[in-house]
Amino acid sequence: MSEPLMATYNRLPVTFDRGEGVWLWDTNGRRYLDALSGIAVCGLGHAHPAVREALCEQAARLIHTSNLYGVAEQERFGALLTAQAGMDRVFFANSGAEANEAAIKLARLHAHRRGIEAPAILVAEHSFHGRTLATLSATGNRKVQAGFEPLVQGFVRVPYDDLDAIETAAANRPNIVAILIEPIQGEGGIRVPSDDYLIRLRELCDRSGWLLMLDEVQTGIGRTGRLFAFQHAGIQPDVMTLAKGLGNGVPIGACLARGAAAEVFTPGSHGSTFGGNPLVCRVGRAVLETLIEGNLIANAEVQGAYLLDSLRAALAKTRGVVEIRGRGLMVGIELDRPCGALVGRALDAGLLINVTAERVIRLLPPLIIDRAQVEELVATLTGLIHGFLGDA
Ligand SMILES: *Cc1c(COP(=O)(O)O)cnc(C)c1O
Repeated sequence: MSEPLMATYNRLPVTFDRGEGVWLWDTNGRRYLDALSGIAVCGLGHAHPAVREALCEQAARLIHTSNLYGVAEQERFGALLTAQAGMDRVFFANSGAEANEAAIKLARLHAHRRGIEAPAILVAEHSFHGRTLATLSATGNRKVQAGFEPLVQGFVRVPYDDLDAIETAAANRPNIVAILIEPIQGEGGIRVPSDDYLIRLRELCDRSGWLLMLDEVQTGIGRTGRLFAFQHAGIQPDVMTLAKGLGNGVPIGACLARGAAAEVFTPGSHGSTFGGNPLVCRVGRAVLETLIEGNLIANAEVQGAYLLDSLRAALAKTRGVVEIRGRGLMVGIELDRPCGALVGRALDAGLLINVTAERVIRLLPPLIIDRAQVEELVATLTGLIHGFLGDA
């Protein structure tokens, strides 16, 4: 038998059949606690009635017409999203990479309009911005880039959480026009920068006339205990990208902008056939309204703090645990050795987790998780970590 799917993923030996809340059931009827949410996507968990109702109602009414016509649901969701984000305008795409492509194109067009012919965007080491050519070029991970050269030009790489390095990199480069950065690095290993990092980046961008472009594809939509991670810092970006949690599983991305940046695109400068269609925008609005009305962002903050505290208490004396860090329900446990094997062991124990940056266990549970479920997650996971470090 030939294999129909291109080999882009090493898949775990399990196939899921249905879900409800934080739980998934495989094709053999076995139940799993989902502490990954489809990689920070299903914030409302699985089979949430608000998502199902929005999806079914809209599918029965109208799915797609294209952006050649007015799209009422796009306008409604756009108004809600920009108001919540304190941004002026939004462009809807279909994924995180596409949202970042829009941000990169916006920064370049903005620069060209001001007479900068070869604009450059500052990006960070260990960053992840997607798999398209421009976004993999912006990504700070050689594994993502290898084999796809020549890379897209116009990115200048700096260490993360290091303002001095940015000043040095910018010293002889008058063509820098923007910074594209994650408020907390996700794929890079749940790296949480210093508390004042975003505040100082904002100051630096203001002083230098650069756009502050935040990639909130993973951190956004309540994940860190605020609707957007930049809200912890009390600043406002010029551009922000979203995807993952925005549609709870329907493919939708967004690039939001404020001030002059919001006026850069004009008819013909960017577009998408599917982007912002009635179906995904209706679901996106249901997701956002449900998160807000259900106080689920506060729940993410409370349960996230409990998760961090519980993990720290249970692993305090465990040699081999380097650091436990995170914000809200975006948590990383860094070990002193590669720990990819833990993913399979967790699966055997009925728990879905992820390992990123080789040594960091990544937890991104649904924002609806409750205290008892956090306790079950901590008990199962810390048992697995103790076993792994004991016999590794
Ligand atoms: C996942 C991710 C992306 C890419 O999103 P896709 O929807 O897979 O294209 C971009 N940036 C960050 C920070 C991400 O976590």
